[in-house]
Amino acid sequence: MSEENIVPEDGKKSLNFIEAVVEKDLAENVNEGRIQTRFPPEPNGYLHIGHAKAICLDFGIAREYGGICNLRFDDTNPIKEDTEYVDAIMDDIQWLGYKWGNVYYASDYFQQLWDYAIDLIKAGKAYIDEQTSEQIAQQKGTPVQPGIHSPFRDRPVEENLELFNKMNIGEIAEGQMVLRAKIDMANPNMHFRDPIIYRVIHTPHHRTGDTWKAYPMYDFAHGQSDYFEGVTHSLCTLEFEVHRPLYDWFVDELKKFRPEDGAYRPHQYEFNRLNLTYTVMSKRKLLQLVKEGLVSGWDDPRMPTICGFRRRGYTPESIHKFIDKIGYTKYDGIIDYALLEHSIREDLNVRAKRVSAVLDPVKLIITNYPEGKTEMMEAVNNPEDESAGVHEIAFSRELYIEREDFMEDAPKKFFRMTPGQEVRLKNAYIVKCTGAKKDEAGNIVEIYAEYDPLTKSGMPESNRKVKGTLHWVSVAHCLTAEVRLYDRLFSVENPGEEKDTDFRNLLNPDSLKILTGCKIEKELENARPLENFQFQRIGYFNVDLDSKHGKLVFNRTVSLKDSWSKIKDKN
Ligand code: ATP
Ligand code: MG
Repeated sequence: MSEENIVPEDGKKSLNFIEAVVEKDLAENVNEGRIQTRFPPEPNGYLHIGHAKAICLDFGIAREYGGICNLRFDDTNPIKEDTEYVDAIMDDIQWLGYKWGNVYYASDYFQQLWDYAIDLIKAGKAYIDEQTSEQIAQQKGTPVQPGIHSPFRDRPVEENLELFNKMNIGEIAEGQMVLRAKIDMANPNMHFRDPIIYRVIHTPHHRTGDTWKAYPMYDFAHGQSDYFEGVTHSLCTLEFEVHRPLYDWFVDELKKFRPEDGAYRPHQYEFNRLNLTYTVMSKRKLLQLVKEGLVSGWDDPRMPTICGFRRRGYTPESIHKFIDKIGYTKYDGIIDYALLEHSIREDLNVRAKRVSAVLDPVKLIITNYPEGKTEMMEAVNNPEDESAGVHEIAFSRELYIEREDFMEDAPKKFFRMTPGQEVRLKNAYIVKCTGAKKDEAGNIVEIYAEYDPLTKSGMPESNRKVKGTLHWVSVAHCLTAEVRLYDRLFSVENPGEEKDTDFRNLLNPDSLKILTGCKIEKELENARPLENFQFQRIGYFNVDLDSKHGKLVFNRTVSLKDSWSKIKDKN
């Protein structure tokens, strides 16, 4: 099998290497032409963008080839798991636009796995080891040196059965005994050196309570769960490649006890996991950030979780675009966060309504505009989409503009507001700045300008060339809002891999700036939670879940341009 993506000659979409395998299997009627995948999260945290990559493949393959993808909670470790996570995982998958066939739990197979373990013991292929995990590790050998047999390796079957039962009924302390498969202590693949397949845990399980005290290890549970469900293509990340021979061994042995199952068997395929710059992607680390209050929760808009991205204003489509761009390969690497930002910009450009918001307001008075007069100006909702229509924005004598759009002694190339220079006020008139008033400290408190009545759009002078266009809102007609400016959560590219320092020391201290007193146009008064907008000239923003009528809160999803690549180029 080629590991490169296949580009067919007939101009059809190119296949990734997994799609190529599936097409070949279909052509050869493997597993009677059935396609069944599964997405197997452990319910020990919220899903992150890396999981989205796995979800798009597992569900995508099933959808594309008329198969079925089931959701399986891989809940074999009661210590870390919780139903809160089960519900959140389901929400996230649905938000991404997928439907599962069935919901399964690995814990539903505890009895079948137990029975299989008993079969292995009876066949002389598993034994109870009473050594500590340290002793077992010491005897493992190295890839070039065989391991040493445990002194308990040849324990009689009856004794193994009795002790295994004791492990499960609470008579054995945690860590006192394990069940190991008896395979080959000299195998060059270390996973074959009598792997531990059951351990004792006394913490109650979130679904099975106190029924079990002996719990199967990942390697003993995963392949068999695939088998019990009828999975055909078991897709996982590259670190499991070295486990695959053991996966196959357990399936082969299991099939010996179930000859009635015929030729069916699941196959495991591995693809590269997603790593992203400026963030961490391990649930353990994300949980630490949440537990220690370093972020506001799993859905903090700076988190790389799916619910974090959703709250931040990312759309499912933008995540699909991103996943399509990065593709599936056999080589691990790290993807530039800027590519993800590019995907959301691309999506919101065609989707988001353009509105006016002034984040750092200063007053602009149009001295020759009648007091008390209001004109409704027409604003195009989206220049990329004519069907999005228009809305109205009120114009009057007193406006707010951005403080940084004015400069008293401006350099030649400053095309914004400075005395003597004309600029266009977006959707309204051309105005010429006549001066400004300062307070005692020298801060600008008011700017003055005169408008040219003939420059409103549609009027004879409306096409007059000016170099700058500014956004604005009317003082009497605008709303006040809080705006949260988010930036990268970490200030280094690969915080998870930095030596000599804990990843928590690498958090970006400027990852959140809260601006209050921002002025936004009235059109946003009834904006719905999570609705996306483009604040013209600034960036894409959405309505935060904390937002309420009369107390609006917006999140910056992404700025209009990528300011980080500029910073990088300078260095
Ligand atoms: P973490 O290391 O973040 O705790 P995990 O692998 O333990 O993740 P699981 O809940 O076991 O998390 O993952 C469910 C599925 O998602 C697995 O098939 C796993 O291979 C896949 N997955 C997890 N992280 C990534 C990633 N970064 N990129 C692609 N797939 C991933
Ligand atoms: Mg895992």
